[in-house]
Amino acid sequence: MKNPILLFCFLICGQLSAQKLTIPFEQRENYSATYLETVDFYEKAAAAYSKMLQLRTYGMTDAGYPLHLAILSANGEFSPEKIRAQNKRIVLINNAIHPGEPCGVDASMLLFRDYLTDKEMRADLENTVVIAIPFYNIGGGLNRGSHSRANQNGPEAYGFRGNAKNLDLNRDFIKNDSKNAQTFVEIWREWQPDVFLDNHTSNGADYQYTMTMIATQKDKLSPLLADYLTENMLPDLYAGMKKADWEMIPYVNVADTPEGGIYGFLDLPRYSSGYAALHHALGFTGETHMLKPFADRVRSTYTFMKILVKKVNADYQKIGNLREMTRQAAAQQMTFPVNWTIDTTAREDLLFKGYTAKYKPSAVTGLDRLYYDHAAPFEKNVPFYNTYRQTVSVKKPAAYLIPQAYSEVAERLLANGAAVKKLSKNVLLPVEMYRITDYKSRPAPYEGHYLHYAVETETENRTQDFRKGDYIVYVNQSANRFIVETLEPQAPDSYFAWNFFDGILMQKEYFSSYVFEDLAAEILENNADLQKELEAKRQSDAEFAKSGRAQLDFIYRNSPHYEPTFNLYPVARLTEDLEIETE
Ligand SMILES: [Zn+2]
Repeated sequence: MKNPILLFCFLICGQLSAQKLTIPFEQRENYSATYLETVDFYEKAAAAYSKMLQLRTYGMTDAGYPLHLAILSANGEFSPEKIRAQNKRIVLINNAIHPGEPCGVDASMLLFRDYLTDKEMRADLENTVVIAIPFYNIGGGLNRGSHSRANQNGPEAYGFRGNAKNLDLNRDFIKNDSKNAQTFVEIWREWQPDVFLDNHTSNGADYQYTMTMIATQKDKLSPLLADYLTENMLPDLYAGMKKADWEMIPYVNVADTPEGGIYGFLDLPRYSSGYAALHHALGFTGETHMLKPFADRVRSTYTFMKILVKKVNADYQKIGNLREMTRQAAAQQMTFPVNWTIDTTAREDLLFKGYTAKYKPSAVTGLDRLYYDHAAPFEKNVPFYNTYRQTVSVKKPAAYLIPQAYSEVAERLLANGAAVKKLSKNVLLPVEMYRITDYKSRPAPYEGHYLHYAVETETENRTQDFRKGDYIVYVNQSANRFIVETLEPQAPDSYFAWNFFDGILMQKEYFSSYVFEDLAAEILENNADLQKELEAKRQSDAEFAKSGRAQLDFIYRNSPHYEPTFNLYPVARLTEDLEIETE
């Protein structure tokens, strides 16, 4: 810069912008920044500290605004590939997925500002790059008010839980109905974070702690990562928070009251931390307590993020090695659990600082009501149930074959980093296919879907036609876990469960009784076994014996006229590792 006046202005203006990096929360402690104030802060911060901070825009959200990502890299390297090549760990922080629980929005601004301005703090960024989505649910954030969190203690105004399509984005990580989630997946794939944190505020019981936390369910993680998480990382995070005067406890998920027991949360892949687990990342959900003042929730969230980053930075090599070993193991793994259930016989003691739960007559109903007596605090062991057992596991096939009609499934697999290829010609293949023999569905829409559960299947060996352009997904990848847990129909967050294959669940052809009568007689004449089965059923089932339609239907279902594709799950399992030509 040749012009000394310009140089002078450049220096002064730069300093001015740095000084102006205040966060609305610092002026008013019960105030949470709006979406636009949040973006404005990061824009100013990135302009003032362009060597350490970039603010990038990614794809759209349902609200018509793009999703932002703030990238804090102490050495000024902003390319995810180069950051990985430099053997640095990447921590992704997500804020305002539930904009009514916004403490992470304000805490992240404070944290980023402090890293930028405090050289000592930046020592924690030597081997770690922190990236943050400043405001994930923009549509919810724009729907701002002061009443939707009826039980929450501040802030004075905040956004709404549903996004612009009224979807709960913390159920949308697999089905990806929202543009927000589609863009999130794009960010995830590009950055491949090692550690993930989603910031929330709790509902539920009352107790003494401000910060509670869900660590991704250990029994769903690979043993390598689970051991590190439970033996090393979590004890350090809890100890760090205690030392910083924000003593923390696992998320208080209760059936009744904490004294009755706290239950570990099964973070299925629809949730953010469960999604992280499918990608072999360590996932956390911060849940500050709704009844504590907003300022305390912001400060405890800030402290937790700082301690988390410090821990990741200290263990960067270990976390990197464990994740690499886990990815390699996943590519070789033969059997994959796809569903779990809590083991209530595996009880641990958790030292807990609560308030005694008591009952008194309600002023509203006259009936007994629960209250937590702040005059009767306690510190004692409560039961903690945090062991999950596998209930369904599957042997992996060599590959899954997905008919091209289901392109939206293939697109989601691709977006999540799975290698998906297309067949280059028609081919007849010996495969295993599932017949869906039973399932239940939610009676009312759940996040835009009639989610299926309790799915049961029978396996059929078939020789099946596949056409040029159908998809083949080999199960020899580090993305194996994602592939298996989304394509096996019994997995609770499979694409089958989320209604991507519902066309197969409806019979398309039937018969007219009066026409089928003669054909049914002919079928029986030529099939003595079926005739015997029919007679046996008439003997054992009085209702059946009285119904002509039921008897004809029995013959129809056991005849070639009955449609073979009804309830046949169309994703096939190639069990032999055959060389198949692909595009
Ligand atoms: Zn939440």
